Amino acid sequence: MTIKHVSGDGYCIYCGASCDVGLLTKEHVIPDSLGGKLIYDGASCMICAGIICAVEDHVCGKVLKNYRFIKRFKSKRKQPLTRQATSIIEDIPHTIDLDRHQLPGFVTLPCFRPPQILLGEAPSEIYQTTMLRTWKRAPAVFSEKNFNPKRVIYRTDIRFDYFLRFVAKILHSYTMAIMGRGSFEPMLIDLILGKYKYPSYLIGGMHWTPLPTQELRQEIEVVYHRINKDIYLIGRLRILSNLGRVDFTDGSPVYLGVIGKIPHASQMQYSSAVYEDGLDALVKKFSFDVS
Ligand SMILES: [Zn+2]
Repeated sequence: MTIKHVSGDGYCIYCGASCDVGLLTKEHVIPDSLGGKLIYDGASCMICAGIICAVEDHVCGKVLKNYRFIKRFKSKRKQPLTRQATSIIEDIPHTIDLDRHQLPGFVTLPCFRPPQILLGEAPSEIYQTTMLRTWKRAPAVFSEKNFNPKRVIYRTDIRFDYFLRFVAKILHSYTMAIMGRGSFEPMLIDLILGKYKYPSYLIGGMHWTPLPTQELRQEIEVVYHRINKDIYLIGRLRILSNLGRVDFTDGSPVYLGVIGKIPHASQMQYSSAVYEDGLDALVKKFSFDVS
């Protein structure tokens, strides 16, 4: 996909501060370091940009570090030629340096329950994770060096709050880019900026993982959904969707987020675009799209 640009309107897409356009930073909706091609020019003020940068650095620089190293994604920092792997042999940890063709740890991603608001639950401060899924491989070097691939230690360093904020940031900025300010009442801003106590109320995942589209790295889509009398925008995001099969399930986890509410919903015509059949129907109606 070629690079697409969207222009800002002189206000930060997060806090709404007005700035000279030159002072607003451009932003990749999906980070550049994951190959995101949609660029929002004049998106965020310096303060919000700094907060978001820390969130993206955690996910791209720690959670997805090995995957980006193995796949040679773009990086701001110079990449080392090797990374360390540790295996336990007769109860003693052994560490060796491996290059990107030999590194066993692929990527670990968290899976979440659907956002609590979609389940009709009250907000809870506990992160509603269901499991961590690791994609791994056992290259030949393991048998040569007496390593037991089943006993390699996969270190994961995932902060769930940062991960959920990362998902929220992508869904919010994508919706601002395709729908524009004023077309919805944003609900994720406090969460993105780290000021919201109940991330799992608005951001979560799907139990059901549809078949990934092999050639796509990311899938993102937004639909309308009715909860009681209100119409909400629900986003679905899958990063690294072409990871392939793991644990007898196809594809990487799918994340769901409640991006915002449609103002004056009762006066608007939505007809078939509004999904009213409950959560299961909603998640099954998501089809694939390209970010
Ligand atoms: Zn701002």
